[in-house]
Amino acid sequence: MTAGPPIDDIHFDDAPNVDSVPGPNTRALLEKQEDIDSSAVAYPNDIPIAFEEGKGATVRDADGNTYIDMFAGIGVLNVGHSNPYVLEAVHEQADKFVHTVDFPTEARLELIEKLDEIAPAGMQGNNRVVFGGPTGSDAVEASIKLAKYNTGGDGLIAFRGAYHGATTGAMSVTGNKKFKGHYTPLLSDVVHAPYPYPFRQDKSSQEAVDHALEELKAIVEDPYGGLANPAGIIVEPIQGEGGIVTPPKGFLQGVRDIADENDIVLIFDEIQSGLGRTGEWWACDWEGVTPDVMTSAKALGGVGFPLSATMYKEELDTWGSGDHAGTYRGHVVAMRAGTRAIEYIQEHDLLAHARDLGEYIQGRLQEAADETDRLGQIRGKGLFIGAEFVDSDGKPDGDLVDDIQQYCFEHGVLVWTAGRHGNILRCIPPLVLTHDLAETALDVIVDGIEHAVDDA
Ligand code: PLP
Repeated sequence: MTAGPPIDDIHFDDAPNVDSVPGPNTRALLEKQEDIDSSAVAYPNDIPIAFEEGKGATVRDADGNTYIDMFAGIGVLNVGHSNPYVLEAVHEQADKFVHTVDFPTEARLELIEKLDEIAPAGMQGNNRVVFGGPTGSDAVEASIKLAKYNTGGDGLIAFRGAYHGATTGAMSVTGNKKFKGHYTPLLSDVVHAPYPYPFRQDKSSQEAVDHALEELKAIVEDPYGGLANPAGIIVEPIQGEGGIVTPPKGFLQGVRDIADENDIVLIFDEIQSGLGRTGEWWACDWEGVTPDVMTSAKALGGVGFPLSATMYKEELDTWGSGDHAGTYRGHVVAMRAGTRAIEYIQEHDLLAHARDLGEYIQGRLQEAADETDRLGQIRGKGLFIGAEFVDSDGKPDGDLVDDIQQYCFEHGVLVWTAGRHGNILRCIPPLVLTHDLAETALDVIVDGIEHAVDDA
């Protein structure tokens, strides 16, 4: 099979190429948006941009400025904007049939088989996939329902720093207090355990893991631990919104053991970390630990179609017909796109590419870190990379990252932020980013770091 053109051929040739931004058309769109759109709109407050067109790892704004995209629609566009191999199937399918609820289609069954092929080892040939609503939050809701349904319990254990989405159940297991503060009470029996974060906790890797696991064990096993009927533990194998917090080896296996010893369902939320982002299909593959339930969304829709899936071990397939429902559980176009995106990653060996390029990017950031005490830590795997910035006292410095983000924008590179204090520079480019584009982007980012640090 020839799965579309090579990654070298799918970007705008001229990126980056920016004039003074934002340009007049962009400003007009932003102003109109402010007049008529919801006050909840957030992204343009960080980068004042209006998109017109995207190709691979490059995007063009409404004034014709071209940028290198290092945030991929917040981890969605793993095979790049408008990937031609994916779009070919999208156009063909859109002309035939779009929506089928959950009646069988070739596209649906093909995607289920594809997901089985790339599933974490302990789930291959031993799983079912449920498509509920189209967002990541919907997949998280399904995972919570599965845990409750199968255990009869109702308590959930999540982790500090976690982000799992914006619906009620997903917000309940999310850590960000400000985000959910206006909507309490949410699900009642949810406890947040510490996530290993050696850099911020001022602990060695081993100490951070031991501490997190001891606390988790106490919540589950201490007769006075407080949570009466735990059903599930939900964890991001690498925390995304929390700051690309990458737990040291041993943590996921430790969580797996505690779940097993106590007959609790273990859910891995791979919505941001999955589908090749880390240079493995799933971040949990790095440790070879398999969950009972795994959520996926974002990159699953191929080129940005909303599609989520919750994969779970076959033994948990105890629902009766209709026990988990949703109108949009059969978006055939998105399913075709998802299968094509996985094929493109396979055919172009993009997992290895993500690992190589990730090392290169981390290396360039490390060189920058050697020049300043403001870049405290670089972490992540594959193309899931965070750089944590601090002030001269070692405290989180979100303003510095805002300055770097703005500098990069003005020089034609889009990067995003993450972390409790917005002090993590997040690089999550499409996996199709070429080495040349990465080199150019890193030249700009490193200049941006020097510039922001000099001005601080
Ligand atoms: N889980 C994780 C790990 C996420 O990063 C996100 C979104 O950023 C979600 C869940 C929620 O996904 P959605 O925004 O599609 O509802």
